[in-house]
Amino acid sequence: MNLESLPVASLPEMAKIWQQTFNWQPTNQQQRQFQQLYELILEGNRQLNLTRITEPEEFWEKHLWDSLKGIAPKQQFIPFLSQNASVIDIGTGAGFPGVAICIIFLSCHVTFLDSTRKKINFIDTVVSNLSLTNAKTLIGRAEEIGHKNDHRENYDLAVIRAVGSASACAEYSLPLVKKGGLAVIYRGSWTEEENQTLENAVKQLGGIVELIEEFTTPLNKSIRHYLYLRKVKNTSFDFPRAVGIPRQKPL
Ligand code: SAH
Repeated sequence: MNLESLPVASLPEMAKIWQQTFNWQPTNQQQRQFQQLYELILEGNRQLNLTRITEPEEFWEKHLWDSLKGIAPKQQFIPFLSQNASVIDIGTGAGFPGVAICIIFLSCHVTFLDSTRKKINFIDTVVSNLSLTNAKTLIGRAEEIGHKNDHRENYDLAVIRAVGSASACAEYSLPLVKKGGLAVIYRGSWTEEENQTLENAVKQLGGIVELIEEFTTPLNKSIRHYLYLRKVKNTSFDFPRAVGIPRQKPL
């Protein structure tokens, strides 16, 4: 049998879980876009190492549900997302969490940043296939983009998942956020002891740690943490430091 002709599995709908977690459900159009995204990722995986998560239920939970959980602290989507908010997804990879946000909040403008051209080329394919008119892509390093006038302190929300330590993620994200805006760092595990280091880094960057939420994923029951950093002051021009430094010498 020709592999090309094998039908692609369908993502589960999980209407009940969406309803329980967010008091919300995707429309038919959004569900179709999730499915298209899933198919594009499976196809893209043949050439690019996009994700190891390819089973439909796992994809639904670890990519879609997790992406949206991060922007719904206390079980509610962040209210400003329905009001023309500007969002940046830093180190987006195959598009998480940004694509899910882009699909759900058409009034948001979402910028997808990654340092790897191939990843951004893939996102361009997703954007055109899903007809996402509220998306922009950007190739670059967060350390450099954070000093560019067009981007520095320009976003209401920055989201960042699996790009580095919490301190490095804070240094990549907070310079890009407007005063009053939020950065959300997605983590797996998190311990009390890590709080102090994070508090210290965030303070130097002009932010405060507003909330840390622990959540259990609905299917696999694994632990997730979402760190919400509020920008309260302009970030000093010393940050972000040069390319590679936030990772090598975390604040
Ligand atoms: N956020 C996605 C991908 C995580 S993999 C997810 O959770 O599935 C990390 C991605 O960050 C890679 O695609 C890598 O190219 C990108 N990246 C790493 N350091 C970066 C930096 N300093 N600036 C921009 N992108 C970066």
